[in-house]
Amino acid sequence: MHIYPDALAVVGASAPDQPAILNRPHAAARAARFFVEKFPGKSLYAVKANPSPELLRVLWDTGVTHYDVASITEARLVRTTLPEATLCFMHPVKAPGAIREAYRDHGVRVFSLDSLEELEKIKAATADDAGNAAEDLTLCVRLRVSSEYSELSLASKFGCDLTDAAELLQATRQAADSLGVCFHVGSQAMSPHAYVQALEKARAAIVDASVLVDIIDVGGGFPSIYPGMEPPPLEDYFGVIDRTYESLPVSYSAELWCEPGRALCAEFNSMIVRVEKRRGDELYINDGAYGALFDAAHVGWRFPVKLLREEASDDFVPFSFYGPTCDDMDHMDGPFELPADIKAGDYIEIGMLGAYGAAMKTAFNGFGATEVFEVSDEPMASQYRGDRRDPRVSDNVVSLR
Ligand SMILES: *Cc1c(COP(=O)(O)O)cnc(C)c1O
Repeated sequence: MHIYPDALAVVGASAPDQPAILNRPHAAARAARFFVEKFPGKSLYAVKANPSPELLRVLWDTGVTHYDVASITEARLVRTTLPEATLCFMHPVKAPGAIREAYRDHGVRVFSLDSLEELEKIKAATADDAGNAAEDLTLCVRLRVSSEYSELSLASKFGCDLTDAAELLQATRQAADSLGVCFHVGSQAMSPHAYVQALEKARAAIVDASVLVDIIDVGGGFPSIYPGMEPPPLEDYFGVIDRTYESLPVSYSAELWCEPGRALCAEFNSMIVRVEKRRGDELYINDGAYGALFDAAHVGWRFPVKLLREEASDDFVPFSFYGPTCDDMDHMDGPFELPADIKAGDYIEIGMLGAYGAAMKTAFNGFGATEVFEVSDEPMASQYRGDRRDPRVSDNVVSLR
């Protein structure tokens, strides 16, 4: 694939009629290297954040060997793309057929669960034809933990409450060769304390159940950088996780795992969109709520933006966006700060779309086609560049102007 220096060069070369996704393999590799080298345990990539095969290969080449899949389709995809990868099926509610196929055809041995019903389902689906139970299962009990430090909650849907955890841990211990405790503190966790609180819950569950635990899996939630959301450095997260984990009552040979999605892929993609119309401070662009901008539309997420033009006004004003489909819901409040003289025909780069952005595109209303280009410049913000401003003083890290 031809490598362009940046988004402006892509526009100059091809003036794309459709939104264009830009890949930055170097940024994903840097993120992966950071987790592989600095997280005090094993890092599983949460595939749902961005299942692009190019990204999967970059992560694999950088040393990420384990992949958290949440559906049988993701399991098949990773197995096909990375034949030697270790797959972990970490969705706590699975179809029996999906468990069976994962176990028999894709070599999956790690499963998560949050109920006795799911435990029975896993036991039945992994037994052999004579009904003998599988003896090589790693089963991770998902605890419900608070999402109070996160921008996107994962607290209401999954997870076993502390009051039921002892019984479930004891029953799971009987069926598991290796027993884990896992949780998810919610996505974009803005404080390392989220993990301390969750690990203390894990401690209470383990003590209560008096079982031998072999794996502590702190899940995802590691943050990236967006306008108005600059988290502390990831080293701070790793530090408190390590210290808290070391004091847990787990087996002598226990392992610490994490499942980053966002933090490994946010910097991998940005997108070029075109302004098709301007109405005052509203810009009609060619991607939106049903494309890569789901979070911008539905949870008011602000992504960094940049006008792709050599010369522009240095007076920046706030704009909102309309996407291309025919309904009012296809609207993104922003505010997105752009030069005051922006007009129809201009191109905008929207940054930090690697996580839950590029992966969310649908073909609704006939939109969704995209071309993909590779670029070599820096993402609009980075957790991994070593040039971060002091998080206590900044409100908007991203250099928009
Ligand atoms: C979504 C998810 C992740 C990844 O979460 P991020 O916030 O993107 O890091 C990890 N584990 C599980 C079980 C998930 O559902």
